[in-house]
Amino acid sequence: MKNMTKQANKQEVIKIKEKLLELYPESTTELNYTNMYELIIAVMLSAQCTDKRVNIITPALFKKYPDIESLANANIDDIKSLINTCSFFNNKAINLHKMANQVIDEFEGNIPLNQKDLIKLAGVGQKTANVVLLEYTNANVMAVDTHVFRVAHRLGLSKAKTAIKTEEDLTKKFKTDLHKLHQAMVLFGRYHCKALNPQCENCSLKKYCKNNGRFKV
Ligand code: SF4
Repeated sequence: MKNMTKQANKQEVIKIKEKLLELYPESTTELNYTNMYELIIAVMLSAQCTDKRVNIITPALFKKYPDIESLANANIDDIKSLINTCSFFNNKAINLHKMANQVIDEFEGNIPLNQKDLIKLAGVGQKTANVVLLEYTNANVMAVDTHVFRVAHRLGLSKAKTAIKTEEDLTKKFKTDLHKLHQAMVLFGRYHCKALNPQCENCSLKKYCKNNGRFKV
């Protein structure tokens, strides 16, 4: 990779932001959900797993356990069998069950809508909490998954080595519209600026790319 440590200047950051918002003006998650309960579960399952796979798994899970109470009372082995095509399903089943019980015991059955309380829940780290908040409440927060991390680095928006530091860089540089920019960067990374075969020939952000559109792996 060439010039990947070069960083976008202020003017470039503004242009990249404008272009991402223009390309993906109203994007939302590709996870299927109808309420906060379903969203947090889908986001928890999506760690190290594709949204497509999660969307195949969740209908049966939500049918059998439609709310936080039923999930809290579920048999963990049964949860495992319902999600066993998902990566790390053993741990995820344990965390889903624990999370549901915490919500009942510590939050009167209501899933909290703030980062401080969300990250107290089993299996919910800062990224999961922020994805839930930006998707459900349009909170002005960034979350960095593998796609956002890759795009941020290729565009010179961060040279941080961790997702949390990259999140800090993006938050500082973009400042506003973070929920939209998160979704935009996920979609741009997932379908266009892909890990192995990015479509550099017809990339709207090519002139800002620190690899000058000549990405090779
Ligand atoms: S030019 Fe290629 S590597 Fe650079 S941002 Fe566009 S798709 Fe990604």
